[in-house]
Amino acid sequence: MKALVFSIKSFEKIYLQKANRIHDLIFTESALSLDTVEKAKGYDAVILFTSDIADRNTLIHLKKCGVKYITTRSVGFDHIDIEAAKSLGINVANVPEYSPYAVAEHAVLLMLALNRKLALANELFRKNNFLLDSLVGTELHSKTIGVLGTGKIGTTMIKILNGFGCKILAHDINESKALELKLNFRYCDLNTLLKESDIITIHVPLNSHTKYLITDTKIKMMKRGVVIINTSRGGIINTTHLIQSIENGHIGAVGLDVYDNEKVLFFRDFSQSTINDLNFIKLKSFPCVMMTAHQAFLTETALRNIAETTISNLDNFEINSKEFKNKIV
Ligand code: NAD
Repeated sequence: MKALVFSIKSFEKIYLQKANRIHDLIFTESALSLDTVEKAKGYDAVILFTSDIADRNTLIHLKKCGVKYITTRSVGFDHIDIEAAKSLGINVANVPEYSPYAVAEHAVLLMLALNRKLALANELFRKNNFLLDSLVGTELHSKTIGVLGTGKIGTTMIKILNGFGCKILAHDINESKALELKLNFRYCDLNTLLKESDIITIHVPLNSHTKYLITDTKIKMMKRGVVIINTSRGGIINTTHLIQSIENGHIGAVGLDVYDNEKVLFFRDFSQSTINDLNFIKLKSFPCVMMTAHQAFLTETALRNIAETTISNLDNFEINSKEFKNKIV
């Protein structure tokens, strides 16, 4: 089939080309939006990324362009209005799993880097300042870690954190007793997790139930000095409340790979231009905040798996496979 790949990045193009055998793939660096949707005219499918916006209006135009299929190169599909796609008869698929290790390892990386003040240590080292006075850290061992969401990434987190000797609490709307028996952790309600954890790591999807799940009310329940790690989606935390709680000292440190307003910032080079997002500027200014620009997924294994599953999604759309498990609608 003929498919247009929106928001293509040089690092992933080669993997898609290698995985593809029979489809006619055309690449554009443009992100999908109302302004760019016309590019999809004459294509059977579009292949999206998290930075694309497939809201109702854009989907209506996609349909008019003749697009019948959407496959997203991501686990999350919060950038696609699934209900609208369903009503328009556009099929949507995702990559439900490409490497939970990539994201979980990145979340652990943020935890360790914050606990051991790695950014400051590197900065001082480069300046030949080898004094240790400002670098006293904390250990993961014996800490209580709250894992929010025990899906593929949350489960991988639990396995890794078990190795560090952490006490692990977890919360999920779908508890798996089998998992609890197999791994060393305990399920609890959300409030208990918030109250008892030294570090909270977020692994739930963004949807209408989890949008701003973490507000100032929830933050006030957390221990003073709590560390929050979010590698899931920026919209799960109310950024304004997060900033206030860092300023008033309630939150000790924050590690973020995602940001609420990231669609207009991430995956672009702003080194020669100005950023006007005041919340973003503020967050970046705190020494206790470490941020990466949505790179938790970015490993060779993940890129290969994303490409292979994306191409297999096109194959399955084409043959209208009944066993197509990645199909959302
Ligand atoms: P998953 O579907 O395997 O697991 C999500 C878990 O969250 C499920 O167990 C589900 O029951 C639970 N959940 C859903 N709503 C909940 C709620 N309101 N309260 C408690 N639990 C809830 O997904 P996954 O593969 O583990 O990925 C999790 C998220 O990570 C994705 O949705 C995506 O947003 C994000 N992600 C980020 C990156 C990155 O590069 N930063 C890469 C991949 C995925």
